[in-house]
Amino acid sequence: MTTTPQANALHTDLLAMLGERGVLQDERSLTTFSKDAFYYSPVLRAELADKRADIIAAPQSVEELRELVRYACAHDLPLTMRGSGTGNYGQCVPLAGGIVVSTHRLGRILELNAQTGVARTEPGARLGQIERQARPLGWELRCYPSTWATAAVGGFVGGGFGGVGSVRNGVLWDGFLRSIIVMEVTPQAALHRLEGAALLGFIHAYGTSGIMVELEVNLSAAVPWEEAALSFPDLESALRFGHALALDAAQDKRLISLHEWPIPGYFGPLEAAGGVASGRALALLELREGRTDAVLERARAWGGELTYRTDSAAYHAGKFCLSDFTWNHTTLWAMRRDEGWTYLQSNLSSEVERALAQMAELRAYHGQVQVADGSQGCGVAFHLEIGRQGVGSEGERLFISALDLIYLQDAAQIQAAVDERERIGVSVANPHTYFLDADPRWSGQPVLDARAAYNPRGLLNPGKLSRGAEAGSA
Ligand code: FAD
Repeated sequence: MTTTPQANALHTDLLAMLGERGVLQDERSLTTFSKDAFYYSPVLRAELADKRADIIAAPQSVEELRELVRYACAHDLPLTMRGSGTGNYGQCVPLAGGIVVSTHRLGRILELNAQTGVARTEPGARLGQIERQARPLGWELRCYPSTWATAAVGGFVGGGFGGVGSVRNGVLWDGFLRSIIVMEVTPQAALHRLEGAALLGFIHAYGTSGIMVELEVNLSAAVPWEEAALSFPDLESALRFGHALALDAAQDKRLISLHEWPIPGYFGPLEAAGGVASGRALALLELREGRTDAVLERARAWGGELTYRTDSAAYHAGKFCLSDFTWNHTTLWAMRRDEGWTYLQSNLSSEVERALAQMAELRAYHGQVQVADGSQGCGVAFHLEIGRQGVGSEGERLFISALDLIYLQDAAQIQAAVDERERIGVSVANPHTYFLDADPRWSGQPVLDARAAYNPRGLLNPGKLSRGAEAGSA
């Protein structure tokens, strides 16, 4: 525990406010709660290693949170909101020290309305809990990250993008939220109920625009899902199949995740279950019950062969689910096997021919490298997620998002790989920067407007916007 007089005074004050369970200041907690999953990036590992909170606060009610906000305002202390700390870009790392506010004691599901399909929750409620409790009532999450078991709903809205379900229902911007209640970071700590366009100021805003204290999440009608893994001769065949499946309105699906070899070889538990065919690409799918046979039949045209299957009774009930190998979990499995890998998030063309040409160019750019076991391999390995954006709007479109593994650890080489993608027309949501306004997915002015209204003194999560943006212009 830090023992300066200031640290002691802070501890005493917060203890009086939040009680024993609401305050953490031991070394281990300070280290743990000051980090998230930024360690996937060698660049952020170096830049964020020494950033640390002075204390961790875990209020258990809106009233306790209000007292904390008033205290922070009175003492000019930075506040950094934290859900479960699984964000990848240092989103809940306290860049300027101060108080990390963990929402793990604000984790209640307040209401699951079986008639309207709306979940009303506290910000720390886990997505997995919402999905599991909603399903027996006939509802499920519209989309969720592969970290669904631990991630908090406030953290997903504040730092996420999309995931399982995005191929069907779109991403966070596509009606995931119905409303939020926000606490402003001022001495009044007033509450505001926001809906409609005002929600844009809080989606993927890295906790810079106000504190979400309650969320209403729109669910979608539950579907019995089956899982299937199919191997293909190569990624091109898998992509042609996956793209056709994504466009086929008659086939309902929750997940289309495609992986070129050697990536499937990193999926230990799936390999042990016989789900991986050596040397072949892999498609991981969630399909509506009763439709899997038809999809398998269709996949044969591209050389697809079934390697693994579960029925709907086993959905989310086994030792693992196929989504455990998708979205950014793919990177996790690769890094576990070989720490030389990191990743980018490259938005390929949604046209298959152009996407294939872009991948060919990038394979040539990255060339051959020697990997940890001494063998030669390509310096890029493609993992693709197919999803939809703008669902329900005129601008609805399919996306092919690569979470492309790159065999690089040097910051300058990683930046050069980003520049190369942009040179050939592939935009990158760069996971090697912690600046929100460097992310092409951020909402821009609505975040700045919300920040001006609900975080006027900039005490919330300072440093996450580059200097120009923090001063107020997008
Ligand atoms: P945290 O990391 O705790 O917080 C995220 C941001 O939200 C922070 O900026 C924080 O300040 C802010 N925040 C938290 N609570 C509040 C609040 N009450 N008010 C205001 N701001 C708040 N992301 C995806 O979108 N899709 C994926 O499929 C996906 N897969 C992943 C796989 C792995 C293996 C890993 C490590 C990460 C993945 N992520 C993915 C990123 C991350 O897991 C998700 O975005 C997750 O939903 C974040 O939730 P969290 O509770 O951990 O948020």
